[in-house]
Amino acid sequence: MRTRPVLIVALLGLAAGAACSAGEPGRATPAPAATASTASTTTAPAPAATTTPAAPPTVTLAFTGDMLIHDDLRARAARNAGGNGFDFTPMLAEVAPILSAADWAVCHQETPISADNSALSGYPAFNAPRELAGAMKAAGYDSCSTASNHTVDKGLPGVTATIETLRRAGLRHVGSARSAAEAVRPVILPVKGLRVGHLAYTYGTNGIPVPTPWAVDLIDPPRIAADARALRAAGARFVVVSLHFGDEKVQQPSAYQREVVDAVLRSPDVDLVIGHHAHVVQPVQRRPDGRWVVFGLGNFLAQQALQPGEGTAPPHRDGVIVTATLAQRPDGRWTVRRMGYVPTFVQTPAGVVRLAPPASRQRTTRILTSLGAPLTDDTPA
Ligand SMILES: [Zn+2]
Repeated sequence: MRTRPVLIVALLGLAAGAACSAGEPGRATPAPAATASTASTTTAPAPAATTTPAAPPTVTLAFTGDMLIHDDLRARAARNAGGNGFDFTPMLAEVAPILSAADWAVCHQETPISADNSALSGYPAFNAPRELAGAMKAAGYDSCSTASNHTVDKGLPGVTATIETLRRAGLRHVGSARSAAEAVRPVILPVKGLRVGHLAYTYGTNGIPVPTPWAVDLIDPPRIAADARALRAAGARFVVVSLHFGDEKVQQPSAYQREVVDAVLRSPDVDLVIGHHAHVVQPVQRRPDGRWVVFGLGNFLAQQALQPGEGTAPPHRDGVIVTATLAQRPDGRWTVRRMGYVPTFVQTPAGVVRLAPPASRQRTTRILTSLGAPLTDDTPA
């Protein structure tokens, strides 16, 4: 997200707009002043109350898929740093302008991040260098979902180290927690003054026992509905649910994915579902009620080895940035007005996330739109 000196102006505008939420009976009236949190601390002094402008017409949220620092990527990041730590910034440089242009950019940090670069590892029990968090922040990310089958690869210490490292870099997180109190704290993101609630869950943890019930959030539709309701009560005007699920390397959604999504969307409090885990791009769907589901974003930064039979066009190197443009309906409800996407591709051996070359872009477009969703390819000219 770009720093906006006019943020408080926007906050005031949205606060005015927030008063007419006729479409949300029974929901708590948000208290916009309390949401300013970290983002507002760097802004200019508030203007005089008499100059309250109109609410900004739209808000954009960007989402990307799995961040998986395999051994080859870690070695490349060490080389990028000239032997002094790790440097992931070149890997994200080409997509940074797109992430930075969104009002809020959300990563999926699939693996633990070490706080002190001890016990670094790749597949199968990952632990990424701490420099990854700073590189993500520099690329334009504002927060990450952290619930995945790898969240507890390094136990509870790994969960704690990951969260502390993300926070030190200035990134928010959702889906894992360092304490029972943190696990129940609503995650509400201040996006240009719009209060966006975010929840994240995973189907499981690769058979690794969850060290405490609150360390990582597991998919459970009744609980997701309750959590979404709690976010609304805490003032969220739009609720995103991130789900780590699906069959690896399978591009069509599994029966489990469809069942979970149907169950989650029975909650009227959920506005958008964002999926990942399959390591390949999966379709986007617009439901008859206008809500959107991104079944799977694929890998974003990863270097999965080619498997026999995968040929020379590995779809696990295809990824995508999806950008949801939110706008307020006349009844006051915030919904997705437009969904754009930018196909990406991990170029090896440098591990650079590129704007996708033509063959990759075609593969990604074909699968994303295979359920008929009206998406817009926002690849820069
Ligand atoms: Zn996964």
